[in-house]
Amino acid sequence: MSTPLTIALSKGRILEETLPLLASAGIEPVEDISRSRKLLFETHHPDVRLVVIRATDVPTYVQLGAADLGVAGRDVLMEHGGDGLYEPLDLDIARCRLMTAGVVGNTPSRARRRVATKFVNVARRYYASQGIQAEVIKLYGAMELAPLMNLADEIVDIVDTGNTLRANGMAPRELIADISTRLVVNKASMTMQHERLKPLIDRLRDAVQARSEARLQEVES
Ligand code: AMP
Repeated sequence: MSTPLTIALSKGRILEETLPLLASAGIEPVEDISRSRKLLFETHHPDVRLVVIRATDVPTYVQLGAADLGVAGRDVLMEHGGDGLYEPLDLDIARCRLMTAGVVGNTPSRARRRVATKFVNVARRYYASQGIQAEVIKLYGAMELAPLMNLADEIVDIVDTGNTLRANGMAPRELIADISTRLVVNKASMTMQHERLKPLIDRLRDAVQARSEARLQEVES
């Protein structure tokens, strides 16, 4: 038999919401992923296995064909660049916004800014598109601290409720992109493995649709 189709899943907050969606599409791991230290999981579907990796590594696995499919946030995909990937489905998980943010009351210069972020590629593209000269500083966490410590004038970060920014005397400024979790597919696999991939993608699309209808009914009742 050929190698099973491999789906690369992002560890962390996205995983919890991805697993029920996969289950409704008929893909269930044979063991409890959250209780295991393993990285590679068989499923009850004979032609599908799962790998659980860092979100930022998902586009790389799928782009290079080590995984056929992947589940990753649009923020991660934008930062990666998206070469060699199709993005056939919005899984409607972990909606948030990628924004610029700064200290409340500080007006940023139109011409030049120092920007701290982990999304350096997205930030460079964004400021260039706005005609603003940006010196982009790569950080790996706690971006909110950078303007408070005079490391940067502004940050580019994920905003959900805005509570983290508020708690640090900061506020969102400009929207760069609306973010949600996406299904990505290796471009070569999409052509070569179309017969095997299409039913999976269709079932996932149906599962997303069914979940959104169930959510709507919950709100209405
Ligand atoms: P909040 O205080 O609700 O605006 O959340 C902000 C922080 O939570 C950000 O700094 C992010 O690191 C994290 N966060 C919120 N939503 C998401 C998401 N959908 N995906 C990844 N990180 C998120």
